[in-house]
Amino acid sequence: MTEPRLDGLISLRKVKGDFAVPFNHRAVGDNFLITNDLGDLTFVTPGELQKLAYGDIAKDEPLYARLADKNFIAAELDIPAQAERWRRKNQFLFYGPTLHAFVLTGRCNFGCQYCHSSIVGMHRTDTDMSIEVAERAVDMAFQSTSPGITIEFQGGEPMANWEVLQHIVEYARQKNALVGKSLTFSLVSNLSLMTEEKLDYLLERRIQICTSIDGPKDLHNKHRIYRDADGFDTTTGWMKRINERYVEMGLDTNLYRVEALPTVTRAMLSRPQDLVDTYVELGCRAIFLRKLDPFGFAARTAKTLGYSMEQFIHFYIEAVDYIIELNKQGVQVMERNAAIMLSKMIADYEPNYLDLRSPGGAVIGQLGYHPDGRIYSSDEGRMVGAMGDEAFCIGTLDNTYQELMTAASTRALVIAGTNLGQPDCVSCTYRPYCGQQPEYNYKTQGTIGGRMRDSTWCRKHKYIFDYLAKKLHDADADDLAMFDRWTTNRPQEHFLQEAGAI
Ligand code: SF4
Repeated sequence: MTEPRLDGLISLRKVKGDFAVPFNHRAVGDNFLITNDLGDLTFVTPGELQKLAYGDIAKDEPLYARLADKNFIAAELDIPAQAERWRRKNQFLFYGPTLHAFVLTGRCNFGCQYCHSSIVGMHRTDTDMSIEVAERAVDMAFQSTSPGITIEFQGGEPMANWEVLQHIVEYARQKNALVGKSLTFSLVSNLSLMTEEKLDYLLERRIQICTSIDGPKDLHNKHRIYRDADGFDTTTGWMKRINERYVEMGLDTNLYRVEALPTVTRAMLSRPQDLVDTYVELGCRAIFLRKLDPFGFAARTAKTLGYSMEQFIHFYIEAVDYIIELNKQGVQVMERNAAIMLSKMIADYEPNYLDLRSPGGAVIGQLGYHPDGRIYSSDEGRMVGAMGDEAFCIGTLDNTYQELMTAASTRALVIAGTNLGQPDCVSCTYRPYCGQQPEYNYKTQGTIGGRMRDSTWCRKHKYIFDYLAKKLHDADADDLAMFDRWTTNRPQEHFLQEAGAI
């Protein structure tokens, strides 16, 4: 099938500039997808697109009502209602960073081949965050003007610095008894240092637990090397145990499960179904298909583990097609990139995923706290720092919150992270749903602004958006019901610290 083209379809002389709101278009099948700045989308035939551009649609035509309903007809726009809608979806602009990634230690007992975190051996206790730094980092996080903050424990393996982890939780809860923010904690761990006693504490303190599973056992153990035991059995054993405990606690198992994330390596490219099956067998409801990123050790091992963006996309499409097939058989599982993008495209909901919003999350959405008190634009910025480049270190705990938020580097990152400042994004049909990560641009193209025309970041997102647009274009009622399920947002309120709790 040949894609429809605008050549010969639209004569600029005949365009009626004030009839439609500004919109962008992209061929999907034999129709066009059009989107506006408010985030609405619809599909039109070439003839309908011409009529919209020429302002040649009578008010009593069904097409007029359809396009007006989607806010494409300027005269029908309810501006106060749309301003309110814009405010709701961009509320992250009205307050400071929500995510505070605490790197509790550089130590780790796993030797993952692609590790992003530039880890050190377990004897290097000198890389641990101290109690003093931890308290000052909590103090800084609480200065965020955001009504809700998440403190995320990262590493290395954060459970290696267990006492400081506990101290942070207790200290932050005490502070919050006075401040009253929506406070959550999250732990990113390989789970190998877990014990029943530690699990009791994590569950009692309502700390969300996330881990990494890289597909079936053979692949997982090949890339995530653990010398003390079988790494796959260790991690999945604890996943099952934690999920059992959630059941014992009476939590809704549809909502409360250990989250796991895979990192896609070259060896996994030919086994998308094995990966999905492993996640389903482990009881996971979501898979976040993440390409190897350019940070930390991953950059050095790219020659053996890496692959092209086209290979990743081929893998991605096979995996998501399979996930969709499983859904049709009644299995509840979804892919996270797709869910985030579809939330924006069809659910009119901004999930505030920091890498896919504009401006991006660098500094104004997240901060990364190094064990020695340095503060980075994000966890990725901290990984760039671990490779000897301090470009994303925006200050230290000796700075004030105001100094960090108004630093020249912060302002530069916000500008670089804004799609409206990117030449290609400005006219991109997917701009209302897309975002930027200046750290990625810097690592791959040497400039925080990046050049989207030859950016793998852009290519990845455009491919996935195209894939989803085609799925939406061809969707039947069952497909739409499935996408609705994927985009239904149910907050995990159990993980909120109780107001006034100490
Ligand atoms: S990064 Fe690429 S896909 Fe995203 S808005 Fe910009 S041009 Fe479009």
